[in-house]
Amino acid sequence: MSLIPGTRLLARLAALRSRFDGAGVSALLVTDPANVFYLSNFRGTAGMLLVGLDRASLIVDARYISSATALLESTAGCPGMATVEVTGSYEETLVDLVVERGADPVGFESRHVTVGRHDWLVGALAESRIELLRTTGLVEQARVVKDADELEKLRDAGLRISRVMSEALAGLRPGRQEREVAADIDRAIQAVGFEGPSFDTIVAGGPNTALPHARPGQRELEAGDLVLLDFGGVLDGYCVDLSRTASLGPPTGEAMAWHRAVCEGHAAALEVVRPGATVGEVDSAARLKIEQHGLGERFVHGTGHGLGLEVHEAPRIGKRDLSALVPEDEVVLESGMVFTIEPGVYLPSRGGVRLEDDLAVTSTGYELLTDVPRGLCVV
Ligand code: ZN
Repeated sequence: MSLIPGTRLLARLAALRSRFDGAGVSALLVTDPANVFYLSNFRGTAGMLLVGLDRASLIVDARYISSATALLESTAGCPGMATVEVTGSYEETLVDLVVERGADPVGFESRHVTVGRHDWLVGALAESRIELLRTTGLVEQARVVKDADELEKLRDAGLRISRVMSEALAGLRPGRQEREVAADIDRAIQAVGFEGPSFDTIVAGGPNTALPHARPGQRELEAGDLVLLDFGGVLDGYCVDLSRTASLGPPTGEAMAWHRAVCEGHAAALEVVRPGATVGEVDSAARLKIEQHGLGERFVHGTGHGLGLEVHEAPRIGKRDLSALVPEDEVVLESGMVFTIEPGVYLPSRGGVRLEDDLAVTSTGYELLTDVPRGLCVV
């Protein structure tokens, strides 16, 4: 795995620290694994970061101390960051470190800390009169706009996953089970250099295409079927995601009509993408076009989602999300944001179509990261 140079992590830490004042904290406990990786290049099943105003510590247990120390001593290590080995439990080690540093108040990532861990920390820190404050999205706000290193990895990943799609479409034929096709796709994802799939590969044939997140099963593909393929890969930690729908043999009139509606919705959304547009405007453009084809009620999910260290991250390209702190339709696109455009229509027990590409917002519009023809692929 190729990691970004450690010196570039300094800019990420600086951007994070610039948000401390607004959040009212003097240090942040980072526990979300993707956020830990973003700031330190460290990836493990455990591990946390305590980022103070002038120093940052990577807290890991005995399973990871050697690899974490070697990482920090390498060119991928963030200058000035130090490892701290867990003694007892992660929580006890953290409290000792916070007290030693005199950090107060300490912020925690409210979407990534369990109630149990939170309650324990509040009690333990209270003994030293240190306040624990909830924060939301401090690291994610930085992650939403990709830097040059990330864009380079996502571009590379977009081209590789496009090759897998071209191969997968060429390999479709009647008599093959959905799960056989899915296994071939997973092998191809590894063969082009990905660490692995970014989510469970979807292969749906015939009526199963009406299920947006179908699991590949033993159903054999039949002549005349629509086949929906949706898969992605992880390259150096970064995720891409791609969907196409094919027809085994000549498509029916209704399949062509569904595909035309989705294709036009996809194009309409792309036309809106540029810095300054809101995610709500992008979603509405796709939705309006599909409604004009009389299929509005069959477009049952958002138009897209952000991509990066997670396969679903901000920005969400959808209708208003009332659970978000900022209503989602007010999120304004910025150059460097990376997300999918993936409208689809699903007609229960009849069939469905989805068309998904990945793009990066540029200063004047967008750059497509995936490159596969968008017409209904007839095989
Ligand atoms: Zn997707």
